[in-house]
Amino acid sequence: MAKETLTAEETRDMMIAVADAIIKAEPILTDADRALGDGDHGIGMERGMNAVKEKLEGQDFPNPGKVFMTMGMAMMSSMGGASGAVFGTLFRAGGKAIKGSDTLGGAECATFWREAAEGVMERGGAKPGDKTMVDALVPAAEAAEGASGGAAEILAAAAEGAESGKTASEDMIATMGRAKTLGEKSLGKPDAGAVSVSIITATMRDFAAG
Ligand code: ADP
Ligand code: MG
Repeated sequence: MAKETLTAEETRDMMIAVADAIIKAEPILTDADRALGDGDHGIGMERGMNAVKEKLEGQDFPNPGKVFMTMGMAMMSSMGGASGAVFGTLFRAGGKAIKGSDTLGGAECATFWREAAEGVMERGGAKPGDKTMVDALVPAAEAAEGASGGAAEILAAAAEGAESGKTASEDMIATMGRAKTLGEKSLGKPDAGAVSVSIITATMRDFAAG
């Protein structure tokens, strides 16, 4: 059954499912980064998500925000590189914004995605159109904010926004990160980090859909 709200425990289980999905997608992320970058995105994300699982599995959390913050810190300290800071910030900034709530409802989901996007842009300096994961994250946040309903509806909207943002990134010329040296040669392929965001949001959608 679709979930209106998630407890801290359900949020933890949802993010363990996200970690498993990213670990499974390692070859896809590796290929995406090999096309435009240096090919280490899959391995980096896999390492980060293994650290996340170590910190989440079997642990109790006081609220959903703390689950996301713990996840972000595990990624920051285990991954290194651009994406360690960027993806770590996503979860830490989003989690921090909702740490006063006992459950993850529709409003908290929208706040999470908005503050995650703001935090990443502030930390990494990328703007929409630079062909980074921001191009999936900002449409996810906008779609979440524009939707109404409980957690399941808001997370579904975010996933749809991320998916179309990822696809739109194919037609962008990279102006940030390693891919920027490729110029117009970066056209035609999605950004690797945007692929990661689409997998993260789709897994959260599927978990909340029940
Ligand atoms: P690295 O660039 O250190 O090799 P990864 O390959 O793991 O790190 O991650 C690359 C991804 O990180 C890119 O596809 C892009 O989505 C994201 N990224 C890089 N720099 C930034 C930034 N400044 N802001 C947002 N995302 C970024
Ligand atoms: Mg790379």
